[in-house]
Amino acid sequence: MERVKIILKSGKDQAVRRYHPWIFSGAIKKIYGTPAEGDLVDVYDNKDAFLATGHYQPGSIAVRILSFEKIEPDLDFFRKRIGDAVKYRQSLGLFDNPDTNVFRIVHAEGDDLPGLIIDFYNGVAVMQMHSVGMYRLRKEFAEILRELAGDKLIAVYDKSEGTIPFMSGIKGTNEFLYGDSGPVTVTENGFKFKIDWTTGQKTGFFIDQRENRKLLCNSTNGRNVLNMFGYTGAFSVYAMKNAALVHTVDSSVSAIEMADENIRLNYGDDKRHQSFTADAFEFLNDIKDRYDLIILDPPAFAKHNNVLANALQGYKRLNMKAIEQIKPGGIIFTFSCSQVVTKENFRKSVFAASANTGRRVKILHQLSQPPDHPVNIYHPESEYLKGLVIYVE
Ligand code: SAH
Repeated sequence: MERVKIILKSGKDQAVRRYHPWIFSGAIKKIYGTPAEGDLVDVYDNKDAFLATGHYQPGSIAVRILSFEKIEPDLDFFRKRIGDAVKYRQSLGLFDNPDTNVFRIVHAEGDDLPGLIIDFYNGVAVMQMHSVGMYRLRKEFAEILRELAGDKLIAVYDKSEGTIPFMSGIKGTNEFLYGDSGPVTVTENGFKFKIDWTTGQKTGFFIDQRENRKLLCNSTNGRNVLNMFGYTGAFSVYAMKNAALVHTVDSSVSAIEMADENIRLNYGDDKRHQSFTADAFEFLNDIKDRYDLIILDPPAFAKHNNVLANALQGYKRLNMKAIEQIKPGGIIFTFSCSQVVTKENFRKSVFAASANTGRRVKILHQLSQPPDHPVNIYHPESEYLKGLVIYVE
């Protein structure tokens, strides 16, 4: 079938020639034909030279590029790409690690599969499609996963109800495409977590913080730990290994229930842990110097560039409250998972927060996402998780 041809405006081919995998609608000069959302389209420069093939989607990101070569992105193409993603995780030792059976198998642009996320929860693969092009192929992807993972795979769940672009005419689904399973217990660095992908945020768990939680474990010895925006209590579970006490705060009742359950799963009824359903900003108004280790892992404050300034203010305010009050010699693990907030901008917010308090602050570590969430070097936006570990004298 002849594919719809999209011509870019003069100069707008630059980013594509540097392998950036998105075509913004503003870069398009002309579309020959009327592609349906999710259709394959070919992209050309304004001198009619072929640039790329990808999935079309009405909206700001008009094309998500699959290939910069003129090829047919058929099932063999996807089998190869997903196979490469699996091989890469195998090379990281993730498929045979007795201490960790929760990881990401496909990280969208990071694995040259824009619009597709696949996470693995101890035998259950949870897929999230962010484009209609990928969504149309969901059943085929489930089949490919079965071929690749063999008897390691119990079930494949599609959780795309909330992730298909909102301008789309198609409504995503939440359903099993293969097998069936209730919530599972996973192991991460030897700690246990109950995962319910049907109710949880994202695909059920914030897998991207695995390495950062491990680092935290080494810093908590004898400390009084405050885990803000705790969600499943994952940071708290790690902290509990060595801390004197751990307090988990989240504004959501169901998150706090999950955190309590995960603490019980690892430590039984341990009085060192306490949880609080509260707004983080209010809770931080008056913590005095009760804590000497604080984790700040808020939800993305900015989903779009137009609210960037507000988001940066939010990070500054939040960090200021923690830096102001933490006990001398305290450590703060502070994060931003907003894709539009760069590493530099986040660091500037923490700098401004520090300067406002006048305290002496050192950066101990600069953190990012683990290698199963790879950053595509041509797509800086895929480096969305940024963290700083700071020491406050
Ligand atoms: N640190 C977690 C992930 C945090 S996700 C982990 O490692 O898994 C962000 C969490 O912040 C969600 O659970 C959400 O309920 C909570 N949240 C959002 N706004 C909040 C607020 N104003 N105060 C407290 N918690 C909030």
